[in-house]
Amino acid sequence: MNTVYSVKELNEAYKILSQESVKVIAGGTDLMVFYSSGLSLPKKILDIWQLNELRNINEEGDYLKIGSLCTYTQLINDERVKHFAPCLVSASKTIGAVQIQNRGTLGGNIVNGSPAGDSLPVLAAFDVKLEIGSLNGIRQVPFNSFYTGYRQTVLAENELLLGILLPKQKDREKSEFYKVGTRAAQAISKVVIAFRAIVNAEKKIEFIAIGLGSVAPTVIRATKTETLLNGAEITFDLIEQARVQLSQEIVPIDDIRSTEHYRRVVTGNLIAKFLRVF
Ligand SMILES: Cc1cc2nc3c(=O)[nH]c(=O)nc-3n(C[C@H](O)[C@H](O)[C@H](O)COP(=O)(O)OP(=O)(O)OC[C@H]3O[C@@H](n4cnc5c(N)ncnc54)[C@H](O)[C@@H]3O)c2cc1C
Repeated sequence: MNTVYSVKELNEAYKILSQESVKVIAGGTDLMVFYSSGLSLPKKILDIWQLNELRNINEEGDYLKIGSLCTYTQLINDERVKHFAPCLVSASKTIGAVQIQNRGTLGGNIVNGSPAGDSLPVLAAFDVKLEIGSLNGIRQVPFNSFYTGYRQTVLAENELLLGILLPKQKDREKSEFYKVGTRAAQAISKVVIAFRAIVNAEKKIEFIAIGLGSVAPTVIRATKTETLLNGAEITFDLIEQARVQLSQEIVPIDDIRSTEHYRRVVTGNLIAKFLRVF
């Protein structure tokens, strides 16, 4: 017999999670696909959909605090997210189609940990912090240390992801989100990238951050390419060096969606496209 707990208070959720083997369900758009494809249902399920306090979006100084239960539709329509994290809006618009955007949550995308999760390169490029809670209290984990391997995270069984702290995009900063898939909607990414950069009037890159998905076992930051570009002036030669560096830095595979070769070529093309804008 399966038991589904439905809670309205965080403390109730923490208490249930302190029991053994409880599976959290938020929007269910990842989990229900797993279970309907043959995976057996867990004995205890904690439904957090009614934890409305995890749906808030607030400005906290230099950060936007986004609750883990925020759906993509909520992110797409929120004026603060549009202003301070426009590429999170761009990413949200590419996820599934309207039905999934209404039900799928940012927290679910993060904890599910698919390397093709479309919000993840944005969160990596923004160096967000994750707020995680349990009966033991609240801790913060840098997003770029959250994944320990393919679909593996540092989240303990008794913990809930509460939200993310996203540093607000600066006025001089430009960010872009690119998703390459088979279709414009309902497509799993072949390559997904988020770029952030501050470039001055002399075309010198003062700051750049690059997050990538679908090109490694987890979402990654392209630290070697960032090192090549930080402080450099954008020239034709630099763009070509960045194209080569980025396509070599990733570790893509051949799978049913694409090939290693295609992913390397496309990733190189996307950094060239981004840098040519300046
Ligand atoms: C038709 C379809 C199209 C899709 N298209 C895309 C797409 O284009 N891009 C994309 O990235 N994804 C896509 N997805 C996947 C999915 O919609 C997203 O990953 C979504 O964000 C998952 O959120 P959820 O709330 O439904 O997660 P759930 O299915 O409820 O949970 C997913 C995982 O996260 C855990 N979890 C959820 N919330 C918390 C929390 N607060 N604390 C602790 N653990 C938690 C659950 O235990 C589970 O392991 C698609 C899915 C479908 C069915």
